[in-house]
Amino acid sequence: MSRIVVLGGGESGVGAAVLALLKGFDVFLSDNGNLSAESKFCLKKYGIPFEEGGHTPELILNADEIIKSPGIPEIVPVMRTIRSQGIHVISEIEFAGRYCNAKKICITGSNGKTTTASLIYFLLKNAGLNVGLAGNIGKSYAYQVVTENFDYYVLELSSFQLDDMYDFKADIAVLLNITPDHLDRYEYNFQNYINSKFKITQNMRKEDCFIFCSDDEITMGNLKKIILKAKTLPISQTKLIEKNGAYIVEDKLVASYDNSEFEMLVNELSLSGRHNVYNSMATAIAGKILDIHNSVIRDSLMGFKGIEHRLERVKKVRGIEFINDSKATNVNSAWYALESMQGPTVWIVGGTDKGNDYSSLYELVKEKVKAIVCLGVDNRKILDNFGNLTPVIVETRSAKEAVEKAFEIGESGDTVLLSPACASFDLFENYEDRGRQFKQAVEELITN
Ligand code: ADP
Repeated sequence: MSRIVVLGGGESGVGAAVLALLKGFDVFLSDNGNLSAESKFCLKKYGIPFEEGGHTPELILNADEIIKSPGIPEIVPVMRTIRSQGIHVISEIEFAGRYCNAKKICITGSNGKTTTASLIYFLLKNAGLNVGLAGNIGKSYAYQVVTENFDYYVLELSSFQLDDMYDFKADIAVLLNITPDHLDRYEYNFQNYINSKFKITQNMRKEDCFIFCSDDEITMGNLKKIILKAKTLPISQTKLIEKNGAYIVEDKLVASYDNSEFEMLVNELSLSGRHNVYNSMATAIAGKILDIHNSVIRDSLMGFKGIEHRLERVKKVRGIEFINDSKATNVNSAWYALESMQGPTVWIVGGTDKGNDYSSLYELVKEKVKAIVCLGVDNRKILDNFGNLTPVIVETRSAKEAVEKAFEIGESGDTVLLSPACASFDLFENYEDRGRQFKQAVEELITN
C-alpha cells in the first residue's frame, strides 16, 4: 500500500488525510504545532494516525508522497530533509484534483481572490449549477471531493498552493493581478512569486480559457514569456477589447465571448471601487464562457452582498461612515480602498509591516485623507511616510482606541476607513479578529 504523509493539520491537511484514507492509502498526519479540537475530532473519527507538537522523521521520510499544507515554508528543517531525499511533495489541491472530474474555475492573483471566487460561485449558484466553493476558502477541496458530488468547483488558489501543483488543470483560470507579496516565502525574488502565480495556466488546452487583466504590466510582461494553448480573455478598464474579453465603454461594462455580448452599467454593480470592477468583469466573462444567461449575470453582479472585512460598510454614526477593509494587508489593496473613497477620509492604517513601499499612496493620501490614525505597535514607517502629507496623524494601540480617535476627528460626511496595508499579528490574532474588534468598537461608540 502506498504511504501518504500529510504535513500540517489545518482545514486542508485534515481534508487531504480523509481523502487519502478513503482512497485506500496508508495515511499519517504530522503537525509541528498543536491541532485544533476540530481537526483532532475529525482525524479520530476516521481513525487516521497523527502526531502534533513535532515531526518524527521515521514516520515521515518513509512516505511515497507528501501532501504539504500551504502555510508550511520550504525553509523549515523537515521540508529541507524531505527535499534532500527527493520525496514527491504536492498540495492538497493537486491531490484532490486527481479524484475530481468537475469543471474547475480557478482564481488567483495578489488581491481579489476571495471576492472574485465568491462572486463567481454566487453567479453559478444563481444559474442553477451544481457548484462547490473551495481552495483557500471554506471547507477544503479534498474533503468536498469525498463528501459531495459537484459538477463545478470554484477554487481560490494562493501562490503557496500553486507551488506544489503539477498535473492539475483548470478549465477556466483567472489571474487578477500580480503585485509583490509574501516575498519572504520566495527568497525575496519577485520573479519566483510571479512564476508561481502563472502556474495557474499549467497544462491548459486549447478549449480552456485564461482570463487575465491586460492593465497589469507584470502580467502582460510575463504572459509573453510563456507558451499558452488556452483561449486568452483579457479584462481592461483602459482599452477596448476587440473580441473575447471585458472592457469599459463610457459608463458600461461589456463582456463578450464567441460573438455574444453582455452589458451593464458600472454604477449598477453591487460592489464599489475600481478593483471590484475588475472582479466583476472577470465574473461576467466566466459567466459568458459558461453560457449563463445575461439576465442571471446582471442580477448576480447587482445582488452580491460582498464579504466581511473587504470594504465592508459597518455603520453610519452621527453622519460618519465606518468601513472595515481589514483584509487589506498590503499596499496595493489599500490603494484601491483609498481610491474608491468619495469624500474626506480618516484613514486607520498600520500593523506588521511586510517591507512595504508606501510611495504609490502619497498622491491619494494628499488628495483624500484628512487624518491618519496609526494602529500598530511600531508606527515609525507610517509616521515617516505620511507625517508631512496630512494635517493630523495620531498613534493608537487598540481597535477601540483607533475608532474612538477617528470618531473624535471625523465630522458628518466623512468616512473612517480601516484599510491597514499591513498584517495584523502585532496586535491581533489575524485580520478577521482586527476587523471584528473594529466593528465592535464602532457599535460601542457613545453618540451623545
Ligand atoms: P485575496 O483573497 O486575494 O486576499 P480579497 O478578495 O480578500 O483578496 O480582497 C483583499 C483586499 O484586496 C481587499 O481589501 C480589497 O479591498 C482588495 N481588492 C479586492 N479585489 C482587488 C483587485 N482586483 N485588485 C486590487 N485590490 C483588490
